[in-house]
Amino acid sequence: MKLNLDKCPVCGSELAMKETTKIVHGGGHTATLNLAVLVCSCCGKRLYSQDQVRRFDEIRAKLRDNDISELEIIGQSFRA
Ligand SMILES: [Zn+2]
Repeated sequence: MKLNLDKCPVCGSELAMKETTKIVHGGGHTATLNLAVLVCSCCGKRLYSQDQVRRFDEIRAKLRDNDISELEIIGQSFRA
């Protein structure tokens, strides 16, 4: 994965690769992904690669369709 960016498009500061957690919602379900992403050291903007964005869309669609076969269940989400 390589992004052709070394500066934040929002504020122009340095970007650094960081391990982050992304939460994807779909159809009342929630999936959590751990991934490395470029994060702006100044404003905190996250820059996802096209592959990552596509993956989020896939997971979102699977959650909507109740297709959780390739996802690991780690707990349930509740609304209070
Ligand atoms: Zn920034």
